[in-house]
Amino acid sequence: MIPQDIVDDILRRTSIADVIGRNVALKKSGHNYKGLCPFHNDKNNPSLHVSEQKGLYHCFSCQAGGNAITFMKEYHKLDFIDAVKALGEMAGIDVESYLGNQKDLLPLRNKIKTMHEITQEHFHKTLFKSRTRGNLLAVKILKSRKIDRDTAIMFGLGFGGEGRDDLFKLLQSKGFSVEEILASGLCGKNDYGKFYDRFRNRITFPIQDNDGNIIAFGGRIIDQSSKAKYINSPETPIFKKSSVLYAWNFAKDNVSESGEAVLVEGYLDVIRMFQNGFANAAAPLGTGLTEDRIAYLKNKFDSIDKIDLLSSPRQKFQTSPLYPFQFIKNEGNPYKEVCRFRCRLSLYSICLAGLSMATRPKRSTL
Ligand SMILES: [Zn+2]
Repeated sequence: MIPQDIVDDILRRTSIADVIGRNVALKKSGHNYKGLCPFHNDKNNPSLHVSEQKGLYHCFSCQAGGNAITFMKEYHKLDFIDAVKALGEMAGIDVESYLGNQKDLLPLRNKIKTMHEITQEHFHKTLFKSRTRGNLLAVKILKSRKIDRDTAIMFGLGFGGEGRDDLFKLLQSKGFSVEEILASGLCGKNDYGKFYDRFRNRITFPIQDNDGNIIAFGGRIIDQSSKAKYINSPETPIFKKSSVLYAWNFAKDNVSESGEAVLVEGYLDVIRMFQNGFANAAAPLGTGLTEDRIAYLKNKFDSIDKIDLLSSPRQKFQTSPLYPFQFIKNEGNPYKEVCRFRCRLSLYSICLAGLSMATRPKRSTL
């Protein structure tokens, strides 16, 4: 058995038009796609309809239909588990790891989710309520980046507090075991065997899945006490870094509406984009765009018209596997539109400089 939330997650991340388009030539027709049905002798009257939005296909002649899993089962003659595994592979989710010891894993996943909710409430409250030195510094940084209070609330920004293990103690007091707390990635254990809060002395950015559940945190330093300016949660049973885009839960509807996504580099960049009216911005986590992450982005973005990728400096692009912005040019892509990458360095520097962007800047293609 594969846990239902994993199956749901895979279906959410799957583009059904992409899955079917690998085997059937699909043509865009309004919001949907049409093609010749492979399940009956469909000669020249395309009766297979595919709805990307609903994640379903249906043949008006032979009544074949279902979701991406059904298609994998029917077309490739797979059983349920192998169908989910194949889709998981495309979506960057390793289904195998849930098959072995999922009995032990499932309760832990739920516990880790709950710990993240408790932690979020704690961090968010700390930012707005306490008046300690660290808290004031955190607020000062957000102000200097011109992040207003409403935006900070919308993105659930917080402060990790100054105590070494306040969060650790809070989670323990809620009944979580040391092992469970360590597995959540929210706290760690140092070389002397002492427990510590990973995000202490940092501004915190909750990282959410597509449904808005908090699955990890990012943290930014408030002073020079640590060399790492930004850190993320380590990978946990609920968090796979390369499979998450920061703020995608906020951006996804706007992206599918406008057919346009803007990728920027960091948390504060995304937040400033939203604050300035660009509600289709998101950021990969971490600095490098690895092969893994690109595969994920490709999977996510195949069905939309274009992505604007914003980053600096320009060198970073020239050495990245994205250069020259054409990885989306996929020969097997059933869509007429070829996704393009554009780099708007000017916009990015404006964003970084914290200036207001009242009007949509002109595009400049590299
Ligand atoms: Zn049919």
